[in-house]
Amino acid sequence: MIVVLQPDCTPQQQEEVLRRIREAGLTPHVSQGVMRTVIGVIGDDRTKEQLRTMLEAMEGVERVVKVLQPYKLVSREFQPHTTTVQVGPVRIGGPEVVLIAGPCSVESRDQILQAAWAVRQAGAVMLRGGAFKPRTSPYSFQGLEEEGLRLLAEARQATGLPVVTEVMDPRQLEMVLRYADMVQIGARNMQNYTLLREVGRCRHPVLLKRGPAATIEETLLAAEYLLSEGNPHVVLCERGLRGFDNHTRFLLDVSAVPVLQRLSHLPVLVDPSQAAGKRHWVPPLARAALAAGADGLLVEVHPDPERALSDGPQQLRPAEFAQLVGELRRVAEAVGRRLASPPEEVAGPATAAGARHGA
Ligand code: PEP
Ligand code: MN
Repeated sequence: MIVVLQPDCTPQQQEEVLRRIREAGLTPHVSQGVMRTVIGVIGDDRTKEQLRTMLEAMEGVERVVKVLQPYKLVSREFQPHTTTVQVGPVRIGGPEVVLIAGPCSVESRDQILQAAWAVRQAGAVMLRGGAFKPRTSPYSFQGLEEEGLRLLAEARQATGLPVVTEVMDPRQLEMVLRYADMVQIGARNMQNYTLLREVGRCRHPVLLKRGPAATIEETLLAAEYLLSEGNPHVVLCERGLRGFDNHTRFLLDVSAVPVLQRLSHLPVLVDPSQAAGKRHWVPPLARAALAAGADGLLVEVHPDPERALSDGPQQLRPAEFAQLVGELRRVAEAVGRRLASPPEEVAGPATAAGARHGA
């Protein structure tokens, strides 16, 4: 249920509305728009129905609207303006499109520093890299775990790029939060409700990937878990669905971008790399995603993909990524946006060593 306040509602009137909602055992979520304030009310349906008539009669209240969708806090009805999620200096969901790039997995100090400098030079504003990897086979490389996180933090220190990395298990969360600027919930874990609740209890920005067989509604309900636990800093990410053709690894659902953006106020990114499976298909999918209105991209880039320990065939070489960024710049402009710029200055003693990696 949403309580729409009148434009001239006073702070006292708003406080009284909030008090009544809490008194009934319901939870209010205030969303301050430019034009007006709306209050989302979460809790038992019967109680909401009883409270509705009373709220409608209160001073400062314009109307009370029932939300028909099962997801509430993530819906555009609850919050008409698009959420922006701040990750260090990077703002996701604003007019600027963000490019997040880096290897599938963190493999070594040299590899992640080289990758970080290369993607930064090309125009990425954030670094990605997995330290805990959800691999299909238990015999495949599973990630460097805490050492990988340490290396990511070193790469951030060197390049100034905030880092996003996956957390697979609530037991890893505390450790991952110590190093990462943004935590990724992977496609395979999108419906791990224990993990969603735990991540929802922290205040770190979250990148929530859509599962390969998840409907739009299931995806939004997964995000609802995060918001309902109190974490509003959520970014959605389309990364391909299970299709019936094996020329691509997953079938990129480009239509998910406008659909999610219409139904939800959360920013939407696209990961063309996991969908493509082969580097050849990454640039066209990346361009399509931006053309469709994505708020940014997550692209896998490896300094030496032939030697990659995971997802080698789909990772772009630095030069290929640099060329793609040039193309994306033009696509962004064509749809009335522009690419976010990498941080101006890089502080810290690691800069000189890092600069050599970038040379
Ligand atoms: C990844 O980003 O490397 C990854 C494993 O992604 P997904 O969860 O989308 O498969
Ligand atoms: Mn990968």
